[in-house]
Order: sequence, then C-alpha cells, then structure tokens
Amino acid sequence: MTHFTTELLIIGGGSTGAGVAWDAALRGFKVILVERRDLTHGTTGRYHGLLHSGARYVVKDPQSAVECIHENRVLRRTHTHCIEETGGFFVVTPEDEGDYPDRFKAACDQCGVPCTEIAVAEALRREPLLNPRISRVFEVPDAAADSFLATHATAEAARRAGAQIFVYHEVIDLLTTGGEGDRRVTGARVRNVASGEELVIHADLVINASGAWAGKVAGLASISVNVIPGKGTMLALNHRIVNTVINRCKMPADGDILVPIQTVAVIGTTDERVADPEHLRIERWEVQLMLDEGEKLVPGLSRARVLRAWAGVRPLYQEGFQGESRDVTRALTLLDHRQRDGVAGLLTITGGKWTTFRLMAETTVDKACEQLGVKRPCQTAETPVPGIEQGHFWLGHRLRQV
Ligand SMILES: Cc1cc2nc3c(=O)[nH]c(=O)nc-3n(C[C@H](O)[C@H](O)[C@H](O)COP(=O)(O)OP(=O)(O)OC[C@H]3O[C@@H](n4cnc5c(N)ncnc54)[C@H](O)[C@@H]3O)c2cc1C
Repeated sequence: MTHFTTELLIIGGGSTGAGVAWDAALRGFKVILVERRDLTHGTTGRYHGLLHSGARYVVKDPQSAVECIHENRVLRRTHTHCIEETGGFFVVTPEDEGDYPDRFKAACDQCGVPCTEIAVAEALRREPLLNPRISRVFEVPDAAADSFLATHATAEAARRAGAQIFVYHEVIDLLTTGGEGDRRVTGARVRNVASGEELVIHADLVINASGAWAGKVAGLASISVNVIPGKGTMLALNHRIVNTVINRCKMPADGDILVPIQTVAVIGTTDERVADPEHLRIERWEVQLMLDEGEKLVPGLSRARVLRAWAGVRPLYQEGFQGESRDVTRALTLLDHRQRDGVAGLLTITGGKWTTFRLMAETTVDKACEQLGVKRPCQTAETPVPGIEQGHFWLGHRLRQV
C-alpha cells in the first residue's frame, strides 16, 4: 500500500475544500486534497449561480448577510473572470404586502449591504419583462457567478502554490490513535475509485470539507456531526429573460430568485430537509412551484422552454437545531473536534454559502495555524487566482475571442 505524509489533508473538492487548499498552500503548508469524484461534484456544481450581496439574509440571518457582502467585495478582486456584474433587484410584487420592504432597507443599512431604492419605471426600462405591477424596487450588488470556473481556478492556484489534488479518491476511513479522552485523527485511508487501489495519507491535521457528507466523514472517527441537508431544486429556462438578478422582496421562500447565467435564466429554489444527499429526485410539484412563482416576477416565464431541472443539497449546520432547513442559519461553522469532542487532529468546516467559501477557508486555516503552533497570515483576500486578467465575464466574451 502506498503511503503519503502531509501537514494538512483536506477531504472534499467543492468550493470550500479547494479554498482551504489554496489558502493553506499559500501559507506554506504541505497540502493534499482528496475528492471522491471530480472537483465540484457535490453542491458546488449544483447551485443557483448567485454571488450574494447578502441582501437576501439581512432581515432573517444578519450574520450570513455580513459574511456575504464582505466576500462579495473580495471575490470581485480575486475571482473577477468568474463573475458577471449583473447587479440585483429586490422587487415588491402585489403578493408581497406588509412592512418587509422598509425593514429590508433598514437591515441592509445595518449590515452594510449597499441598497438603493429606484423608481419602478427605471427598473422596467432596464428589465422590460418584469411584472409591471411591482410597486417598489431596491438595487443591490448581487451578481452571477460561475462556481465550476471559480473552483477550478482556485484549485489551480492551490496547485501552483504546491498543493497536491487527487480526484477520484474517496476517504473510506479515518486513522485514529489513543483511547477515550486522548483520541487523535492522524490521517485517512483512501481508495482510488477508478483503479480500486488503496493508499494511506498521514497528516498532522485533517480538514473535513465534505459539505453535506460532513456527518458521514466525521462518523468515520465516531464523531457525531448533524449536518442539516436542505435540498433545493432549480430550472434553467431557454432564454436569458432578464439581465439582472431578480429577487422577491420578502422573507426568503421558494422560487423567489431569477438569475441570468450566460445565455439562460435560472429560477429557484426550494428548501426541503432530505434524509440522504446522495439520492435526490426532482418532484413534479417542485417544477410547477418554480414556474408559478417565477410567473410573479416575470409574467409569461412559465411558457419558456425548460431546458433542465437539477437539485443540490445545502450543507447547513446549527448546533441543536430542530426545525425546517429553510430556517437554519447560512453563516459558516467551524467545528474544532479537539474542543468539542475531545478528538484532536480534525476540523470540520460546514454551513456557509458558495459566496463565502474563501472566508470559510481563511477561518479554517487560521485555526489550523493555531493548532499547529505557527503564525502565518492569510493571503487569499489579496491574491488573484489564474484567469482574472480576462476581466469580468460578460455575454459577448466568447464572441470577442473568435
Ligand atoms: C439549491 C442550492 C442553491 C444554492 N445557490 C447558491 C447561490 O446561488 N449562491 C451561493 O453563494 N450559494 C448557494 N448555495 C450554497 C452553496 O452551493 C454551498 O454552500 C457550497 O457549494 C458548498 O460547498 P462545499 O465545498 O462546502 O460542499 P460540496 O460542494 O458539496 O463539496 C463537498 C465535496 O466532498 C466530496 N466528498 C464527500 N465525501 C467524500 C469522501 N468520503 N472522500 C472524498 N470526498 C468526499 C463530495 O464529492 C463533494 O464534492 C446553494 C445551495 C443549494 C443546495
């Protein structure tokens, strides 16, 4: 059996794991990342496509809003080419009664999310297909983002800084030493899922960045982590019917965001607690709900041809939470298993958003430095990934190249 030795072993090749590998490699750590399929195989490759301004969460989940607006600004610098500057509207439809819009505006101000109320006529001039019965419109710095490109660019930046990335390598066991009270995770047994070959990776610290599977991975060391898997379904329509991200101005709910992504528009999403992140079905009612809700934003939307429906699972986490997945915080969570469970050598990073993956990585590697007894400042907020010289993505990008 082949043996490797590293300082940090990262489990999971989604946005979070790639971000941790990049951050840690830049800080001079020896890093190995293992992903059981391709990079972005998990939720990162099945998301809605929105670089959040944080406005969606200002009323319900201000901690997440603050994290989002901070990272929204950073990613525009570090991952410029992965982001299209669409801007975002929060619109009040006839169904959205009450004082939410005023609370929303005040909460944006409190969380530091730039938000300007604009005239409905101006919004309709810019987005002529919007529901003409909307009564108020707020403009925020939402954007569309390509998570595939961003994760691959982040992984490439990590490789250039010295990280090793093994795709199609699945962690099948965590290595532990010690007994009750002084247990330590010292690495992992990994299977190459293409060849069946097994290898052992010894590590000073193991970082569990396996998203909705984080509970399963922690379970390999008999540690209980109750990730709350919230499934969301999205539909891609065959037209880019809007050029701006359109959100309903109300408490987050189903089917209330429409995102222009390259030549299509994506309406989403639902939020349903599921038992198993592995086996997801798109239900007929979910498709109908997306079309019905989308119709309230853009009348006629439901007559567009649906190209594709897909679903992903949010890796949500809130200690002791019992309710609906919709109500779980979207803020990031770092679990230090030495402190929490008396098992050294393992950190779990979960929760958060795609938008906050860099901050999740920074938080994790700060803790890794502390545990490994070194002081090395984070560099990712000021270090661009390969490709940013292309500038922000825009629709004519490819045409210009040919
Ligand atoms: C429907 C939906 C819409 C969303 N829309 C947005 C949005 O518009 N904007 C936004 O900012 N956020 C959005 N999110 C949230 C965002 O997508 C996630 O928070 C983020 O992608 C999670 O990334 P991750 O790397 O933590 O997890 P993942 O991307 O799931 O990565 C975990 C990886 O670990 C791997 N893995 C699991 N077990 C093992 C093992 N044993 N060995 C090796 N590898 C393993 C998996 O294959 C997977 O690739 C959305 C989420 C959902 C569900």
